[in-house]
Amino acid sequence: MTLPPMKRILLKLSGEVLMGEQEYGIDPAYVTRLAEEVKAAKETGLEMCLVIGGGNIFRGISAASRGLDRTTGDYMGMLATVMNALAMQNALEQLGVETRVQSAIPMASVCEPYIRRRAERHLQKGRIVIFAAGTGNPFFTTDTGAALRAAEMNCDALMKGTSVDGVYDRDPKLFPEAKRFDTISYGKVLSDNLKVMDATAVALARENAIPIVVFSIREKGNVARVLAGEGVQTIVQA
Ligand code: UDP
Repeated sequence: MTLPPMKRILLKLSGEVLMGEQEYGIDPAYVTRLAEEVKAAKETGLEMCLVIGGGNIFRGISAASRGLDRTTGDYMGMLATVMNALAMQNALEQLGVETRVQSAIPMASVCEPYIRRRAERHLQKGRIVIFAAGTGNPFFTTDTGAALRAAEMNCDALMKGTSVDGVYDRDPKLFPEAKRFDTISYGKVLSDNLKVMDATAVALARENAIPIVVFSIREKGNVARVLAGEGVQTIVQA
């Protein structure tokens, strides 16, 4: 199964991939390595949007299980995604790639607020737009933020770079015999509750007919390989 021709994509990276081998936070050397991949993908002629999670720093739901108010925790999680966006912006600009960060929670002295038409203009000028602060609302995730922005920006695909190389019928870390799907329908992901993205994100992608491409970002050069149709991935589609 190959991907349809694409002009514009949204790449979603979980915050965890910014940790490198660390257990928490941001490893700048690893962020540079990821930025090199993003740059290589951009140089194939694509317009690129980026969304980065915040799980390497803060997750509202985990903090809530230890007593913090969930809504407050979620806002803290969204702030964490802004830190990650700035780290990625810095790494990309050091490589000579022009970027803009737009936050769903306005913070005028740090980055631009999210303005769709302005983001559109940046993309047309060849800049990478990094969407930070998820949807701007608690009780959501950056996966949903990514699906929302992919729909708003008319992206041809939502690429989810994660630590596994696709969608499996069960957790491949626990079950070595787990089977990876080459393609799978949105409906099956939802009905079998497969761990790809949260259900809201999958439903939003389905409603807007945006394919979700799940692949491993841990292997060097994989973004370009997947985009060239030579990688290992799962495509979630109708
Ligand atoms: N978050 C939120 N609303 C959003 C996006 C994120 O409240 O629209 C918060 C939520 O607490 C979440 C945290 O930000 O746990 C970090 O995002 P996420 O867990 O999606 O990051 P990832 O797992 O991709 O690193």
